Amino acid sequence: MSAVLVLNAGSSSLKFQVVDPETGEAHAKGIVERVGSKGSTISVTVDGEESETSASAPDHGAATELMRTTLADRGVDLASSGLVAVGHRVVHGGRSLTEPTVVDDKVLAEIERVAELAPLHNPANIDGIRSATKAFPDLPQVAVFDTAFFSDLPAEASTYAIDRELADKHAIRRYGFHGTSHEFVSAEAARFLGREGDADLKQIVLHLGNGASASAVRGGRPVDTSMGLTPLEGLVMGTRGGDIDPGVLLHLHRVAGLSVSDLDTLLNKKSGILGVSGIGDFRDLASAVHDGDDDARLTLDIYLHRLRKYIGAYAAVLGGVDVVTFTAGVGENSVELREEALKGLEFLGIRIDGRRNKGKNDGPRVISTDSSAVTVLVVPTNEELAIARHTVATIA
Ligand code: ADP
Repeated sequence: MSAVLVLNAGSSSLKFQVVDPETGEAHAKGIVERVGSKGSTISVTVDGEESETSASAPDHGAATELMRTTLADRGVDLASSGLVAVGHRVVHGGRSLTEPTVVDDKVLAEIERVAELAPLHNPANIDGIRSATKAFPDLPQVAVFDTAFFSDLPAEASTYAIDRELADKHAIRRYGFHGTSHEFVSAEAARFLGREGDADLKQIVLHLGNGASASAVRGGRPVDTSMGLTPLEGLVMGTRGGDIDPGVLLHLHRVAGLSVSDLDTLLNKKSGILGVSGIGDFRDLASAVHDGDDDARLTLDIYLHRLRKYIGAYAAVLGGVDVVTFTAGVGENSVELREEALKGLEFLGIRIDGRRNKGKNDGPRVISTDSSAVTVLVVPTNEELAIARHTVATIA
């Protein structure tokens, strides 16, 4: 069996999976949390059985070592697991890194250079690559970029309407994120409907997790996406508010004295669902709405309003829509969210089947009625499998 170790290093976590790139089977997976602070934990699932232990992980190097020893304790020796490579999720590839790439010194230096575009994400990804290179010196390390799928967005979608020279000088453009997921899910949707290779297939993909983004995809290629230079733009998310008048930031700076760093914290950590309602998790928001909490209701209404605006906008950009697909934590699991999000969009030819929407299935499924002009799908995303496949294709 050949397998890929997929690593997703966040600022305070390390997610890992040993994936068979052919079958998608994840023989072992887990996460080290609170990397770099006290009270780190590692949870590991091997053949479906989960265990969690506290441990020390002062940095990503230690977290990688912890992963290795914990997996070994659970009977998974990475040295003899048939690993052919390590695949890394890297958030920002900038203008130059537009395809999955084997990491060498030059590539690593470039990932570091573009880190100024993603200061919250790329440094952790770099730590992950360095740690894995040390731990697995004989394996190729492949970087798979979240921005790659969107690297050839049409210029009218990727260019911000600001001073052209300034924008060029500082690489300001819409890069888009969650690209690995949008690519995987739109391809799965086309395959599921038997329409791979159909150059006219018009899809809207809604990736709704903690972070959230939408994309408009025609014939397998993206023509627009909601996230921009950074993952702050677009939909309402867990702690990010998405679209906002840039004037709000200037005003808060001038009138309330907020510094760049205060604004950074506001936009990344104190906005979105958490900012408006004080509730950090979508499930808790949904139960607060159930209990009649007015703030929670308003928050959900803002979330839904934004989502509908993007669906309408992307239907216009595509000149119609054949498929709308929900994916990621909220999109895959929340029956109510899916139903409410599409309410009022019957004029686009969207009709949800209440019974199908409540159904469950591990793979892709249809939740629209047979007579709905637009097919609405739920397609589970699998970024790890997508990274494993890209990794194998890159080293081949
Ligand atoms: P990320 O990868 O961005 O961290 P996920 O795609 O795992 O996020 O999604 C996490 C979100 O999904 C959380 O806000 C969580 O509340 C939500 N979620 C998970 N399960 C459900 C559910 N059954 N109903 C509603 N929301 C859910």
